[in-house]
Amino acid sequence: MADFGLAGTNDVPRRIPVGPRSFVYSANPARVLFGAGTVAKVREEVERLGGARVLLLSGPSRGAAAHPVREALGPLLAAEFDGAATHTPVEVTERALRVLREHGADCLVAIGGGSTTGLAKALAVRTDLPQVVVPTTYSGSEVTPVLGETEHGRKTTRSSPAIQPETVIYDVALTLGLPVPISVASAINALAHAVEALYSPQANPVVDGMALDAITRIARSLPAVVVEPSDVDARADLLQAAWLAGNCLAGVGMGLHHKLCHTLGGSFGLPHAETHTVVLPHAMAYNAPAVGAVMARIAAALGASDAPSGVYDLIERAGGPTSLRELGLAEADLPGAAGLATARPYPNPRELTGPGIEALLRDAWHGRRPGGGRAVPDLSWLTGQVVASFENTPDPRLKELLTDLVRRLHHYVTANDLTQAEWQRAIDFLARAGHITTDTRQEFVLLSDVLGVSSAVDVLTNSRTPGTTPSAVLGPFYVEGPPAAEHGGDIAKGLPGTPLWVDVRITDTEDVPVPGAVVDVWQSNEDGYYDVQLPDLDGPVLRARFHTDADGRLRFWTILPSEYPIPDDGPVGRLLAAAGRHQMRAPHLHFLIARPGYHRLITQLFVRGGPYLDSSAGLGDTVFGVKDELIVDFVPRQGATPDGRVIEGEWRLLDFTFRIQRD
Ligand code: NAD
Repeated sequence: MADFGLAGTNDVPRRIPVGPRSFVYSANPARVLFGAGTVAKVREEVERLGGARVLLLSGPSRGAAAHPVREALGPLLAAEFDGAATHTPVEVTERALRVLREHGADCLVAIGGGSTTGLAKALAVRTDLPQVVVPTTYSGSEVTPVLGETEHGRKTTRSSPAIQPETVIYDVALTLGLPVPISVASAINALAHAVEALYSPQANPVVDGMALDAITRIARSLPAVVVEPSDVDARADLLQAAWLAGNCLAGVGMGLHHKLCHTLGGSFGLPHAETHTVVLPHAMAYNAPAVGAVMARIAAALGASDAPSGVYDLIERAGGPTSLRELGLAEADLPGAAGLATARPYPNPRELTGPGIEALLRDAWHGRRPGGGRAVPDLSWLTGQVVASFENTPDPRLKELLTDLVRRLHHYVTANDLTQAEWQRAIDFLARAGHITTDTRQEFVLLSDVLGVSSAVDVLTNSRTPGTTPSAVLGPFYVEGPPAAEHGGDIAKGLPGTPLWVDVRITDTEDVPVPGAVVDVWQSNEDGYYDVQLPDLDGPVLRARFHTDADGRLRFWTILPSEYPIPDDGPVGRLLAAAGRHQMRAPHLHFLIARPGYHRLITQLFVRGGPYLDSSAGLGDTVFGVKDELIVDFVPRQGATPDGRVIEGEWRLLDFTFRIQRD
């Protein structure tokens, strides 16, 4: 079962998707420093590359921002050029080249956004000088070997190892002042790299991992940066996302979205990051029918129910641009832009058609929300208030659990766009569960069981000790203080059913017997009922308390347990019916084993060959209590019995050793 990609229980292995079976992955070599105050290392990094005379590059009016670099470079600073411009015009590069040569620079240091990085790359590819880039936006250009340049109004792109900067210094402190509108557009530019990487023909697990991580970080940090632009943690999260997304752009080919933005920027002069921001949700909506599984992964990483509208809502809430109209594109240019974007074929998961792309651009021009409908309002302020209300909770664990519960509940409400009627139904459901609950009927335990929460908590709490018998849920029918029973006695007290001789031992993990352990046993009758469900019964039956003997052993008669439905006369039964789920539990015997000095073990033994053991195709135990190691033989026998009891016909033998852990 350790076979790659195969996982499952029982006899039928189930295939889980493992992603592409073959791929090529090339890493782009670069040295990356990440942190706050890392710009202080710039001199060291230049010297590491053998540089002694630096040309410092920045954008117009970004001179002051370059000050920390200037200071850190000290005597290595040979000259400065602060004329970097968007889309790397060749005439600007030529001017910078003259400054470089005049001062005999032997290393390039760039501080700024993609425009300044672009200039450093353009100089490097012409001179082969090493580059140290200090990015202050989220464009990701600093980790790619790609350069886009414009000459006579035409943008051309080329790729070469000489273009790739040798060293990147990410300094969160330098991004704190990035204005919110630029931060939003730039973060969505990064998001676009991650999104398109996931459906790239070159997609591979390394890049997938980086892309999903980047998407998660952007979705959670961008709203925080909008509220508090100098939030260092959120800024660090975004900057890390930018690095990861840049690696996606460098690692695999992009599709329709990047092509459209290239066209709109290059031929219609639209601003780079803002165009990415407007177009991304629409390009995603266009590709979604061809890559549904990818969109589901993106939606999950975003924490949204749908990927394209989730991205649109993220942008809208952050105050980013949502229409090409507001970026200055004329409506009359849409057919031309669609024509240019489809003129030459390029890889994209969905076929590109002129009318399809024009419709996409028209939606983007109007700023329509993909999938229609209204955006779910941003509730982060409300969540923040409720979380803050627990600020003074004295017990730290209680505080952690309450605040996380509130965050997740609010997320559930917004992600599902919950209606008032649906929430009222949920409240009514819980009220009915409360009404039906008594000392012997626990509807909330049942609810926790059928949702698998009891099993999840059980696994977390009790299944961390290798070498012990696995635990299983307590279930709703345990009653404290069962009647004491003698070894060899019959706890079925004459009830009909196939007789069962139980012979079990309790040992520690070294097989040393555990004498004097308290063992509570309980089970259903032949019809699948527990005694507490049968009000006419006189006292407890099919439940008992034993103490293990000097050999850690105990033996008793009972009857073979039966499969049974969990109670269906309450709200949980109606929930299962509404979901089309069955209500059956696989036949089993409950054990609760306790002894001071040992971990308590609560578990169940399931009858091998019985019904409801196969969890595939929805036919498993309805409370998810079965574990392979707990399915055991209840061996059919005829004739002589271990204690000489005379039985006509079949009886069964359960012979089992429980291993429990010393404290
Ligand atoms: P940008 O570099 O033009 O910067 C946007 C604006 O932000 C500028 O006005 C700049 O002065 C300002 N700014 C930058 N950092 C600041 C800070 N810390 N505080 C205040 N203001 C700040 O824009 P961009 O989006 O970073 O980059 C866009 C350019 O990069 C385009 O030319 C695009 O083609 C290119 N790009 C290339 C690649 C690649 O791999 N080759 C990838 C992404 C982008």
